Amino acid sequence: MDFVSQWQPHMSIMGVQEEHLVLFDKKRNESVDISFVESKVYCRLDKSHDCEHINFALATPQLGLIWANYKKKQQQQQLKKEREERKASG
Ligand SMILES: [Zn+2]
Repeated sequence: MDFVSQWQPHMSIMGVQEEHLVLFDKKRNESVDISFVESKVYCRLDKSHDCEHINFALATPQLGLIWANYKKKQQQQQLKKEREERKASG
């Protein structure tokens, strides 16, 4: 048992997608989608930036990976926006 699962024994990591961390809350018997919204960690289940799932997610190394993917996508969108603005202004 690692540190995280000792600390929140009713939660576990179900999967990691490109920009989402999927947890499972055994207490509520529900899966929990954690992602970044406006550069802040967001829990879709609680519609919150501050809940026990977020505390759990912050302690997992997987969240760092998701943050990196999120930032990469933000930068790509920003570049795309700048290109389109340049195109629009002639
Ligand atoms: Zn939550």
